[in-house]
Amino acid sequence: MNQTDAHIIRCTACGAANRIPADKIGAAAKCGKCRAALSTEESKTGPGEAYKLRCTECGAKNRIPGEKLDAGPKCGKCGMVLKTNELFAPQPIMVTDANFESQVLKSPLPVLVFAWAPWCPTCGAVTPIIDQFAHESKGRIRVGKVNVDTNPMLASKYSIMSVPFLFIFDNGQMKGSMPGGMQKHEIMMTMAPYI
Ligand SMILES: [Zn+2]
Ligand SMILES: [Zn+2]
Repeated sequence: MNQTDAHIIRCTACGAANRIPADKIGAAAKCGKCRAALSTEESKTGPGEAYKLRCTECGAKNRIPGEKLDAGPKCGKCGMVLKTNELFAPQPIMVTDANFESQVLKSPLPVLVFAWAPWCPTCGAVTPIIDQFAHESKGRIRVGKVNVDTNPMLASKYSIMSVPFLFIFDNGQMKGSMPGGMQKHEIMMTMAPYI
């Protein structure tokens, strides 16, 4: 078997690049670093996966092939080194008044923010859907949760009158908002234009 018969599969849990021989694609391949199951489905048809992330310096969207993520890729527009390590940060992240700017407004990925409150039963019912979406969309969409009771600045700034509520941010701006009681496929459809 020669080199071209192998695929580089990026672990969506830890970000490690795994080299998987072509004849093992579709088998239950595991990440060599964290042992998470690797998603090899896409590699059966497409060339290799790629990630799209914004330069946090100039806001330009850059497309980076998975095998180049560890090579210190630079922004095609301004030349800054891209923050590829942020693609694989654990999520959902806890968004607060204090970290909103760094985690949401300056995120290299589009962000879905779930506004919730501890006293809200519907929020509790929606939380597993948000958690699952956060897990599955890692590397493409950042998912954060904000407790509106403990983060009055955000609740006031975005006039959050009811929970659960969802906000979409991209490139430092709010692009959309909607009531948060959605099914996972509805969230996926809503977020698709931002990926
Ligand atoms: Zn891994
Ligand atoms: Zn740039």
